[in-house]
Amino acid sequence: MAEHITIGGLHHLTAVTGNASGNLRFYRQVLGLRLVKRTVNQDDVSVYHLFYGDAQGSPGTEVTFFDWPDAGPNRPGAGEVATVSLRVTGQETLEWWVRRFAEHGVAHNGLQQRAGVSFLPFTDPEGQRLELVDDGGATGVPGGTPWDEGAVPAQYAVRGLSSVTLHVRDIAPTEQVLTDVLGFRRADDQDGMCVLESGPGGPGTQVRIARPSEQIPARTGIGGVHHVAFRAANDVEHEQWQRRISAAGLAVTPVIDRFYFRSIYFREPGGVLFEIATDGPGFATDEDPAHLGEHLALPPFLEPHRAKIEAGLRPIE
Ligand code: ZN
Repeated sequence: MAEHITIGGLHHLTAVTGNASGNLRFYRQVLGLRLVKRTVNQDDVSVYHLFYGDAQGSPGTEVTFFDWPDAGPNRPGAGEVATVSLRVTGQETLEWWVRRFAEHGVAHNGLQQRAGVSFLPFTDPEGQRLELVDDGGATGVPGGTPWDEGAVPAQYAVRGLSSVTLHVRDIAPTEQVLTDVLGFRRADDQDGMCVLESGPGGPGTQVRIARPSEQIPARTGIGGVHHVAFRAANDVEHEQWQRRISAAGLAVTPVIDRFYFRSIYFREPGGVLFEIATDGPGFATDEDPAHLGEHLALPPFLEPHRAKIEAGLRPIE
């Protein structure tokens, strides 16, 4: 490679909800994540974009949602992020979560093992496919800092993204873009699947690729994932990624300033929308870190339209 740039791991995941109020209750009160930013979709300011994460909304801990009540249900199939794995630490922690899910009526499939690693598959109230995975205390990508006012004791807290599982019709072209263009490599623990990782490797950096049981094209909707974002360390490397992806013949957007980070987007050959986002500047750029997510935050270019935007949003209860 001419330029030695590395994807630092998973940056965030953006999914679709049809019920922002219920979404906030589940991710904050049941999963114990912090709502670090309450803002709008910059491409459609009539809907909320909610960002959940650790205490600061560190890159790698963010799970975000567009509120699209009219989107219709997600249809699983080929060309989507099928499963989102969140990291926790320790077998005892997973057992604690089994009890918590029972208390809160969360649908789950019980503790399971994969390549010697314990995980707990579950769904959110809209059918979003999720897992809690024991990260074994791995620190290649350090886990996030739990929010000390959160609903879950710090020792059991979700520490961020562990991996995403992509479902695609053909594994090879997707794997090739991840390895040849984005610099991913095969992980050691394969468990019969194609598992790739980047940067320091391990939890927080992994992409799993599989073929879905139903070979129909996925249709993004409520309870599904819209895109997955990977980490660029800084603006210089971010621009290099933009050039490299373009040079590989993929249709990539120009750099877009999302205010909390910079973004580029492209669709990989299997149909999954990928984003590369910068680690900074982060969520404390326009709010006191002690009061993140309490009020509607708007980037400066939308601030002049605040009254109109607020009037157009479906209230969150
Ligand atoms: Zn994104």
